Amino acid sequence: MWQIHRIGTVNYKNYMTKFVYTFGGKTAEGKADMKNLLGGKGANLAEMCLLGLPVPAGLTITTEACTAYYANGCELPQGLMDEVWKGMENVERIMGRKYGDAENPLLVSCRSGARSSMPGMMDTVLNIGLCSATIPGMLKKTGNARFVWDSYRRLIMMYADVVMEKAEGIEPAEGKGIRKQLDDMLDDYKRQKGYHSDTQLDERDLQSLAEAFKKRVKETLGKEFPDDAKEQMIGGIKAVFKSWNGKKAVSYRKIEGIPDDWGTAVNVQAMVFGNMGDTSATGVAFTRNPATGANKFYGEWLVNAQGEDVVAGIRTPNPLNDETKNEQNKEMPSLQQLMPAIYKELTDIRHTLEQNYHDMLDIEFTIQEGSLYMLQCRVGKRTGVAAMAMAFDMLDEGLIDEREAVMRISPAQLEELLHPILDASDEKKHTVIAKGLPAGPGGASGCIALTSEKAKEYKAAGIKSILVREETNPEDVEGMRAADGILTARGGMTSHAALVARGWGKCCIVGCGALRIDLASGAVAIGDKAFHEGDVIALNGTAGYVYAEEIGMIDATENPLFMRFMQTVDKYRTMGVRTNADNPGDAKKAIEFGAEGIGLFRIEHMFYGKDSEKPLEKLRNMILADNKADRVKALDELEPDMKAFALDTLRVMDGKPLTFRLMDPPLHEFVPQDEEKQRKVAQERHMDYEKLHKRIEAMHEVNPMMGLRGVRLGILYPEITEMQFRAIFSATAELLKAHKSPQLEIMVPLTINVEELKNQRAIADRVKAEVEQKYGIQIPYHFGTMIEIPRACVVADRIAEVAEFFSFGTNDLTQMTFGFSRDDVNSIVDTYVDQKIIAADPFNTIDQEGVGQMVKMGVGRGRSTRQQLKCGVCGEHGGDPASVEFFYHAGMNYVSCSPFRVPIARLAAAQAAIKEARK
Ligand code: PEP
Ligand code: MG
Repeated sequence: MWQIHRIGTVNYKNYMTKFVYTFGGKTAEGKADMKNLLGGKGANLAEMCLLGLPVPAGLTITTEACTAYYANGCELPQGLMDEVWKGMENVERIMGRKYGDAENPLLVSCRSGARSSMPGMMDTVLNIGLCSATIPGMLKKTGNARFVWDSYRRLIMMYADVVMEKAEGIEPAEGKGIRKQLDDMLDDYKRQKGYHSDTQLDERDLQSLAEAFKKRVKETLGKEFPDDAKEQMIGGIKAVFKSWNGKKAVSYRKIEGIPDDWGTAVNVQAMVFGNMGDTSATGVAFTRNPATGANKFYGEWLVNAQGEDVVAGIRTPNPLNDETKNEQNKEMPSLQQLMPAIYKELTDIRHTLEQNYHDMLDIEFTIQEGSLYMLQCRVGKRTGVAAMAMAFDMLDEGLIDEREAVMRISPAQLEELLHPILDASDEKKHTVIAKGLPAGPGGASGCIALTSEKAKEYKAAGIKSILVREETNPEDVEGMRAADGILTARGGMTSHAALVARGWGKCCIVGCGALRIDLASGAVAIGDKAFHEGDVIALNGTAGYVYAEEIGMIDATENPLFMRFMQTVDKYRTMGVRTNADNPGDAKKAIEFGAEGIGLFRIEHMFYGKDSEKPLEKLRNMILADNKADRVKALDELEPDMKAFALDTLRVMDGKPLTFRLMDPPLHEFVPQDEEKQRKVAQERHMDYEKLHKRIEAMHEVNPMMGLRGVRLGILYPEITEMQFRAIFSATAELLKAHKSPQLEIMVPLTINVEELKNQRAIADRVKAEVEQKYGIQIPYHFGTMIEIPRACVVADRIAEVAEFFSFGTNDLTQMTFGFSRDDVNSIVDTYVDQKIIAADPFNTIDQEGVGQMVKMGVGRGRSTRQQLKCGVCGEHGGDPASVEFFYHAGMNYVSCSPFRVPIARLAAAQAAIKEARK
């Protein structure tokens, strides 16, 4: 193990963990793949040294030292500083200067560097080592008194802020922090002197300011600013460790899912100065354009400035080269123009780095009196568009192979390419007024519509709209279709609105707790802002953000590389990807996106949305019938509608498997619940209202999700099962007669044991024989079941005796395994996730250690009786990348998801296969 460095019987310990790794002078103890130990910054500084690049020498204190520091009650681990001082000897030798020396002093920076980058979240101290013992030497050596005193006052400001205040856990009142006080003193001083800018401060000004700063530090913090180089170094290191648990860093880790126990490394590195005059400068660059992916060197720089000045936006930076010029900086000279030799050296470094890392890098550099130094490099963040463009450029350049190109685009980046999105540069200018669950990705701006009717009206008039509802129900489907975005106060990620929106690739935010609607007055409150129907709002459905104004949109789908990328993805994918669809339009869209079949056709969707009124009426007749004869009559009337409904999609899916699921939802969803509507239904049927009301009341269930649903419906009312089989078999027979190739699969939902399946299978066999007789043709098909109840996973071996395939309904399986209601559990899950009681919302991403194990058990036991049992997943998890990877390892034949998630599932499946092959 390379982390453990055995040093025999030396000094104080027999075995000692090596805490310090040095770098500099074209050599290093670390390298790029040691990020876990050295942090990203440390590992890459070492790698750049190994590549022979000009890197100021330094040392990296490991993340393990940070963990040890915390385990040690916030004391530096024993022996650490001995290692640091030993490492510093190496730095001093390479740099030709000595830390704390009176004649020829070396100054250092102390920076954090975690395994994965946490930009701006932790602290940095520059110019460490300046004190009364070293200042005279610095003055003599540089001959630049202004520079020395400026560096000193900067050190005092940073050190007091980071080491003496923040790291000590002092939390001053707003505006009373030491940094603010010192900044104010600087401003006051300039005002008194009539100066407009920092550059007017001369060496005497800066020296007297430094003295005044030290007094203020003592008064405010009760301690002297340390006038000792060693003490400064120890303080700097401790402060960086402490900043790992600073407020900002802790919140950032929570959002990004970075474990708290990783710890940060500390990089102590010889200072180089970009602020030593006109031949000095500092800059940041990307080896390719991070927004478009164009293979052009892209960056910004500032003459006579120190590191943070470029990123902090204090001055408008100059363009690196012609390619980087824009409206704001086009008149400013580029590095290419002003320092052509350095620019050439930097472009050579760009090339070396890309050849080594095979990726686009983000770099920081400093030029000190005409010499170039590299201070950082890391793989650069990029947009989805850029990621795809770069992956193919690098593939064509021979930098990476096809597998790597597939790995280069994350599922989230691919998603960016599939939906119109808010223009990020415009979005930045607006304030988020409320947050909800990001149920349907993409963006939308439009007028608030409080009813489906209004959304349709807007659509007809060519006006963009956002349907804003407490929650959505089947009657809203038309309005949801018409609206450009959907916002609801209630509901979770698998709520009806969320499911439907995702299916359509529609921007949707659900469960937005800050939303209040008063339908009567047409007033809407979102947080503390008031709106009316017709007012414009904007949604970012990818993040779950709501805005009070219109925001510009961009259509990211128009990317010609998309098709090429997906073809490449499919070369490496072994698991199938199907779609959840129940109409020809969605089926076509899904095929365009590469779906290989339909994994879930929810037959009851024929009673929602467009053209559903007539069938819904017939269904209501069936539900409201109080004897079998009436029920059968209603079912007979319904059969042709169902047959037509099945036929439409079977046609589109010709040659591809289509899995119909028998009717599932609780029946009461299809009858009106309020008195007015019930009276209307009674009137239409010439029924007595009281009788109808009683009938509906009798259907009421306390837990409808656990009530008369799924296969139970078909067991209690076999005639309902019979009608569905007849409709589907007849549609299939017609297509077979017309020499088409329907690939029929029918599954039974919510099964708990094999007896249920035998019962339903007997009906299927009988009806099939009748239909075959009628059409004079054999109907090949597969009979299967959904696995949605934990019990079914346990007895899967028995169930597989009858079921020819399993489709895991992980929405219900999650509901039933956790005992969390799919529709009501939002606030509980949020709190659980916040308090880390569970790692993530299990309805979003499969709970691998619980529900996931049920799934694995189901697959394993099922295949113990039927070796070739086909297994798929059709719950919402089928479109979640992490879940797809899990299902790949669980041995699924396919996953099935909404049409717009099909490319994402394809990518996730390919990446899972590539990762496994690389192991
Ligand atoms: C499921 O439960 O995972 C499933 C796909 O069925 P539904 O969402 O229709 O209950
Ligand atoms: Mg289900």
